[in-house]
Amino acid sequence: MPVYYHSTRDASVTVTASQAILQGLSKDGGLFVPDHIPALDKSLTELSAFDYQEVAYEVMKLLLSDFTEEELKSCIAGAYDSKFDTEEIVPLHDADGAYFLELFHGRTIAFKDMALSILPYLMTTAAAKNHVQNDIVILTATSGDTGKAALAGFADVPGTKIIVFYPKNGVSAIQEKQMVTQKGDNTFVVGIHGNFDDAQTGVKEIFANEALAARLNASGFQFSSANSINIGRLVPQIVYYVYAYTRLLAQGKIACGEEINIVVPTGNFGNILAAYYAKEMGLPVHKLICASNDNKVLYDFFATGTYDKNREFILTTSPSMDILVSSNLERLIYKIAGEDAVQNAELMKQLNQGGVYHITDTMREGLKDFVGGCADVAETTRTIRHIYENDHYVIDPHTAVAASVHEQYVRDTGDDHVTLIASTASPYKFTRSVMEAIDPARAGEEDFALADHLCELSDVPVPAAIEEIRTAPVLHDTVCEKEEMTDVILRFLQID
Ligand SMILES: *Cc1c(COP(=O)(O)O)cnc(C)c1O
Repeated sequence: MPVYYHSTRDASVTVTASQAILQGLSKDGGLFVPDHIPALDKSLTELSAFDYQEVAYEVMKLLLSDFTEEELKSCIAGAYDSKFDTEEIVPLHDADGAYFLELFHGRTIAFKDMALSILPYLMTTAAAKNHVQNDIVILTATSGDTGKAALAGFADVPGTKIIVFYPKNGVSAIQEKQMVTQKGDNTFVVGIHGNFDDAQTGVKEIFANEALAARLNASGFQFSSANSINIGRLVPQIVYYVYAYTRLLAQGKIACGEEINIVVPTGNFGNILAAYYAKEMGLPVHKLICASNDNKVLYDFFATGTYDKNREFILTTSPSMDILVSSNLERLIYKIAGEDAVQNAELMKQLNQGGVYHITDTMREGLKDFVGGCADVAETTRTIRHIYENDHYVIDPHTAVAASVHEQYVRDTGDDHVTLIASTASPYKFTRSVMEAIDPARAGEEDFALADHLCELSDVPVPAAIEEIRTAPVLHDTVCEKEEMTDVILRFLQID
């Protein structure tokens, strides 16, 4: 049965997968969700003999129903190739009583590469299938990692332009340098005075602006999104959970059908939602453990059933998780509301207006697969240090939030399921925070000296992504107020 996509806010909207990818967000402000979640049609044992690309096809074909086999296989082959520095694409590392699923072996050394390597292929294929004549303008708000991964994915892709907004003082020095040195005539990078939620809210408003859309259309452009609200990002993220399970199976670490726990360091709720979809497709998962940093809106939500973003926004050492409005949670809310778009839309309206909503007890029952946890900056630093000391393995601060939460969870519950921890960034992306943990005396050195020192301490070579930006010139220097985002876009596109 083919999968169609509905809006979480309007039951009358139905589109194909390729249309959902092209649009990004539904016109009513809702997110596209599959009308049903199909079960895997190959056994996990069969899948354990497949390589990453083959598993990707088996998972993605089920959710991207209107892509042909040839189209999908060509997208997958284009995406998951030697851009990744290991043939396994996502290796597993055994440390600290869990398996770290290293999702950072792509071009920009963060897990965003997993989806953003393939999104440009899915998007251009979708455009051709739907006879789109306009150039597609990818508009993205980033808390640091999405921006660079999207820029790298879309740079010089014919028929596309990409505009990235990032919080000027809310990303790491390396993250910023990675973005502002991006090559490609179709790439634009803008710092905004504000935090990530300001950037994300601004982008959402621009998407919802119909007059602006008409103006763009008249000039041969249309917007789409590379944010994790795009179903074209969510679907490729399901793949690596299935793949990791089948590797554990192939290596005899688990028996077939044995349930595992998955811990995900969470910001916008995209990565953990992909793990939830994997479970819904039949992956044996016991608990989905949602790990938050000091911005623990989600932790409080799982504990109380109240989502409340009215709180101080805290800058932490895991900036890609410094988020108070987790966009993808809406897909879960819709699901636990019994796929009731009216009820979901009402809750989202409350969130928009008062910054808070409460879910019913029946809805809370739907959350039983999830456990919330949180770790503050000090705890995260301690975890990086002791995993380095015990296992000679260096993890980044985002991954360390998850590892901290995992340790607390095991301590509190005694749950001994085999556990996967989503390792979402290379420690080379956050060298200063990592060095504060493992060699604080050297943490004051400049960024590239830190990278060299990390190499000595960890015996992991400095990744190409860092070598590239050592000497690269700054190519983007636009900074604007959050109210000026639309004007900046019109200027870039030379529309007046
Ligand atoms: C984006 C990101 C996260 C959060 O992922 P979500 O899908 O937004 O929950 C965690 N860690 C890193 C390094 C990231 O780049």
